[in-house]
Amino acid sequence: MLGRLQSYEMTDDNTQADVIIINTCGFIDAAKEESINTILDLHEQRKKDSILVVSGCLTERYREEIQADMPEVDIFTGVGDYEKIDALIASKQSTFSPEVYLATDTSNRVITGSNYHAYIKIAEGCNQVCSFCAIPSFKGKLHSRTLSSIVKEVEALITRGYYDFSFISQDSSSYGRDMKMSNGLISLVKGIEKLSGIQSARILYLYPSTTTFGLIDTIADSKVFQTYFDMPIQHIEDKMLRTMKRGFGENKTIALLEYMKSKPNAFVRTSLIAGHPEENEVYFKRLCDFMQSFKFDRFNTFSYSNEETTSAYTLTQVPQETIDSRAQILGNIAEECTLDSLDAMIGQSYTIVIDGESDEHEYLLSARPLIWAVDIDGEILINDTSELSITYGKTYEAKITQRVGTQLLATLVV
Ligand code: SF4
Repeated sequence: MLGRLQSYEMTDDNTQADVIIINTCGFIDAAKEESINTILDLHEQRKKDSILVVSGCLTERYREEIQADMPEVDIFTGVGDYEKIDALIASKQSTFSPEVYLATDTSNRVITGSNYHAYIKIAEGCNQVCSFCAIPSFKGKLHSRTLSSIVKEVEALITRGYYDFSFISQDSSSYGRDMKMSNGLISLVKGIEKLSGIQSARILYLYPSTTTFGLIDTIADSKVFQTYFDMPIQHIEDKMLRTMKRGFGENKTIALLEYMKSKPNAFVRTSLIAGHPEENEVYFKRLCDFMQSFKFDRFNTFSYSNEETTSAYTLTQVPQETIDSRAQILGNIAEECTLDSLDAMIGQSYTIVIDGESDEHEYLLSARPLIWAVDIDGEILINDTSELSITYGKTYEAKITQRVGTQLLATLVV
């Protein structure tokens, strides 16, 4: 959208903006609530005669209801019209295209927040049928971009100084299947790693039943792609994986995870759902035991959210207080796993990128090892620059010296 609005000046001041665009999320209750509160808050703060635009998954999913219930909003649009945002604002028209928008290599991107890292959308939609997930109902079936379109976009960003990329979609390991590519993601890794000027890349959101051992080998062998495996498993117990319609059982899921972990310097991340219907104490204990023993580098837990249009919607629900307490137990295990992963880094050297001064203290610099994903896996603090001259957004070698609480400290290596 920002690419279409380059004649506008950006402001952080809500009260002064002539146009406010809120791109919503609407896939679980917590996200819907946050989106609606943001709309109401910004409407309160905005100046007279400004234009309030609401787009994204929430408006796409609840198109009729939200237009009827939120007269505060001037323009509604869903997930199909991002390229038309300038025309929508000019005409003050609401529009909902039937097709989900997918970036192209000619889309004029404006990237905020980083001068060296960019997300690259490789596909939209999803062909999986996970019992708890409403995303395919409003994003539709898998629709991949061509490899040449992705390569051209990355090349164009490299010429603008970007060198670190995160490739994303709802189910990245299915990339290209709708275009009859049998190993689409392997082709993508091989196509991207050939580009000169790219230094680092990672893939987010692998799906177990479409992730192959060959893909794991290709990522691990790449000189550009980090040995970073982000594969949401949601659960591990066989019966629960069947109820969740995940396509893969416990043994096959564990075999993939073990193979990922066997790769040198692998970083393995996942996410889980606590309290899905039919999760009893025995199944939950199996999940906890597995999470304690496997030692993921990071994992997130989502409390089950009962969503209309999903197949789990009509199943007998786990009481909310049980869901909450299970999410808390898994959260505690996740904290232990994160600390173990951080401790394993002490004494090692990593290529890191310095993002700026730390919020913790003006004498500390905030940095991220390139193997970690942006804004997801945390930061490390540089407390000794070895008198090197520092440029934000550039890479350095750093040795991790100690952990203080949940923070790693590091020294730049001369
Ligand atoms: S893989 Fe499952 S959870 Fe992810 S978007 Fe597709 S249906 Fe939803």
